Amino acid sequence: MLKNKETKFHSVALHLILVLLLGLFIPLVTGMVITLEHERIKLENKLSEFHRETVKTLALDTQDALLSFSPEEVRNIAGSLLKDERIVSIEVFSKLFDVYLLRVSKATSDHQFNSESLRKNIVKDGENLGYVQVKVDKGWITPRIKVFHNHLIILFSSMFLSTLLLVIPVIYYKILKPLKRLTKQADILSKGELGIVCDWQGKDELSMLGKTLDDMRSKLNTHFNIVKEMAVTDELTGLPNRHGLYAGIEKIMHLSRRYNRPLSIAIFDIDFFKTVNDTYGHGVGDEVLKIFSQFVCRRIRKADIFARIGGEEFVLVMSDTPIESAELLLNEIREAVSEKLFPHGGKITVSAGVTDYSGEEQLDQLLEGADIALYKAKKNGRNQVVAEPSI
Ligand code: GH3
Ligand code: MG
Ligand code: MG
Repeated sequence: MLKNKETKFHSVALHLILVLLLGLFIPLVTGMVITLEHERIKLENKLSEFHRETVKTLALDTQDALLSFSPEEVRNIAGSLLKDERIVSIEVFSKLFDVYLLRVSKATSDHQFNSESLRKNIVKDGENLGYVQVKVDKGWITPRIKVFHNHLIILFSSMFLSTLLLVIPVIYYKILKPLKRLTKQADILSKGELGIVCDWQGKDELSMLGKTLDDMRSKLNTHFNIVKEMAVTDELTGLPNRHGLYAGIEKIMHLSRRYNRPLSIAIFDIDFFKTVNDTYGHGVGDEVLKIFSQFVCRRIRKADIFARIGGEEFVLVMSDTPIESAELLLNEIREAVSEKLFPHGGKITVSAGVTDYSGEEQLDQLLEGADIALYKAKKNGRNQVVAEPSI
C-alpha cells in the first residue's frame, strides 16, 4: 500500500518535471531556430542587395572608361570597391577591344571563397560595350550568424533558467510538498493512528483536501473513542464491564508482581436479586443495580477498579491491599448496604468472596478463587464475606 503511494508520488513529480522541461525547451529551441533562420535570410538579402547595387554602380561608373579604353580609370573605380570585405573579385571586360580591362581577385591558392557571381552587360546607345562581373563572399554571412547564434543562446538560456528558477519553487511548494504531506497523512490514517493532527494553513485545492482529510480523521477519532469507551463500559451503571476490567487489571497485576505489593480481588453478588425483579419489576431492579454501584463507588479508592461483570455480579480490585484489609473493607460495605434503603423501599444484602494475588496466578484463576469464596458465602447463608487466600 505504502509502496504504491510512494510510486504514485514519484511519478507525479517526474511527470511535472518532464512536462516543465519539455514545455520550456521545445518553444525556446523552436523560437531560436526560427529567429536564427530569419536572421540568415536577412543577411543573405542584405548581401544580394549589396551585390546588385555594386554591379549596377560598377557598370555605370565604368561605361566611359570602356569607351575610352582606360584601364587606369577602371582600376581606380574598382580599387575603392575591393576595399569592401564582401567583394571577392571584379572583372571588367571590353567587348570592343576583346580584352579584360580589369581582372582582380582576392582568392589565393591558400584561401578560396564560397563566392557568388553576378554579371551585367554595359550597353550604350544600343551597343554592347562589354560587361562587369562581381563576385561576393557568401562566407561573409557565417561569422555574423555565429555571433547572432551565440547571443541567442545566451538570451534563451537565461530565459530558460530564470523560468525554471521561478516555476520550480512554485511547483515544489504548491504541488510536490503538499502532495508528499497528503501521502504521509493518508499513510498515517491507513495505519489507524487517528490521534495525530495534521494542520493545513493554505487555501488552495491540496490544502483543502488536507483539511477535509483531517476533518474526517477528527470525526473518526471522536466516534472511535466513543465506540472504544462503549466497548469497555457497562451501559446501565457506567462501571467498567468485563472488557474494561480485563483492560485495567493487567497493569495492576504487573505492578503488584514487580514491586511485590499486595493485591486483593473480590466478587460481589446481590442476594436474592431475582426476588426484587419478580416483585417490583425489571425497571426497579435496574435502579437498584445503579444505586448499589454508586453506593460502592463512594466507599472505595480511586485506584481501585469496580466493574460489573454480569447481571448482579460485580468485581472489586483493591491494589495495595492485603486480603485481611480487603475483608474488613468488604464487610464494611456489606453492612452499609444491608442498612440502606433502596428505590423499591426495601433493603438488600450482598455476599462477597475475596482472594489475593501471589504473583503467580492468571486473572481467570484469581476470579475463580474469588468465585469459590463467594459460593461459600452463599452456601453459608448469604450476607457475608468469605476470604480465600491464594496460598
Ligand atoms: P442468589 O442470592 O443466589 O444470588 O440469588 P439471585 O436471585 O440473586 O440469583 P439468580 O442468579 O437466581 O438471579 C439473578 C437475577 O438477576 C436474575 C436476573 O433476572 C437478574 N438480572 C440480571 N441482569 C439484570 C439486569 O441488568 N437488570 C435487572 N433488573 N435484573 C437483572
Ligand atoms: Mg448471580
Ligand atoms: Mg444474586
